[in-house]
Amino acid sequence: MTCRYCDGIAKKENIVFEDETIAVMLHHAPAMPGHLLALPKEHFTIIEQTPDKIVRKMAVTANKASTALIQVLGATGTNLIIENGTAAEQQVPHLAINIIPRVDGDGLNFQWQPKKVSDEQMGLIELQLKEQTKSLGVEAEKKEPIMLDDAKAKGEAVQKSNYLTRQLRRMP
Ligand SMILES: [Zn+2]
Repeated sequence: MTCRYCDGIAKKENIVFEDETIAVMLHHAPAMPGHLLALPKEHFTIIEQTPDKIVRKMAVTANKASTALIQVLGATGTNLIIENGTAAEQQVPHLAINIIPRVDGDGLNFQWQPKKVSDEQMGLIELQLKEQTKSLGVEAEKKEPIMLDDAKAKGEAVQKSNYLTRQLRRMP
């Protein structure tokens, strides 16, 4: 299988920044001049397949790339967009954050028509999602080892782990 972004990374095409895990490249069909992509160098199709550590690094890199567009191109805003899956109109099956420089009156339009959702439906969706996501924060804490560099950090780490234990005990 060939992947346009994996090829681009391998050939160093339009790459403006790279380190060991992340590349920032100019989009091959830009929505605006300077339209960038922040993407993992390893091939992942969607964000759900991508390790937290890489997602975190992508987000931080995209933030810095956005700052560069503001500083270098004089953008007065940016859109950060992930097309995640074919239903979301993902064109290339390689996860990427689009960073699109914007200025007032540039003619780009990402507006959507709000869908009508009944209070009943909204309530049900909220309930289902609350149930499914209630342990998200705890999971995130568990995945990341707590560093014990000095006494102060040690104090914080102990407090954090007590907090976690309390939360876990509360879980049914
Ligand atoms: Zn790829």
